[in-house]
Amino acid sequence: MAIGSILLGVALLVLLGLFLARPFLRTHEGEAVLTERQLLLEEKEHLLDQIQALDFDHDTGKLPTELHELQRARLMEQATAVLQAIDAFDGEPKPGPAPEEDAVDVDIEIEAAIARTRQQQAQKAAPPAPAPASAAAPANGHARFCPQCGTPTDPGDRFCAHCGHNLTLKTSTKTA
Ligand SMILES: [Zn+2]
Repeated sequence: MAIGSILLGVALLVLLGLFLARPFLRTHEGEAVLTERQLLLEEKEHLLDQIQALDFDHDTGKLPTELHELQRARLMEQATAVLQAIDAFDGEPKPGPAPEEDAVDVDIEIEAAIARTRQQQAQKAAPPAPAPASAAAPANGHARFCPQCGTPTDPGDRFCAHCGHNLTLKTSTKTA
């Protein structure tokens, strides 16, 4: 009798435990969805990297245009599919094939993402350079270097400190 009561109590406890665990189980499901979404996001990043690398190879002349376009179209197709899958997670699942407009939006989204990645990598590759010293003629019209001997000059200088060349004549000395 006592054992029967204990078993009944245990069974009730298990049921209660399952009932209490329901929200957690549901969270678990949510995590699974999140993980799948994260995988899609990673896949997207990966595809964008590949497209970017492809663009880079094309820009640097390593990849012929025909091949570039072909491979890019294929990657774009994959990226579009991944993005639509992510959209499906984020919003309501779209019944049937996505309308044409969506495909265009996705293309724009991908291109924007590629541009962003490029920008970030460009910034990483080239830290903000100091004032361009190579600019021969700044906005104020004065040459930064003496046109005669190449000595660096100050914008306020009227004559070259090295050879005495009249820097203010620079623009009018067109008679070669
Ligand atoms: Zn000079």
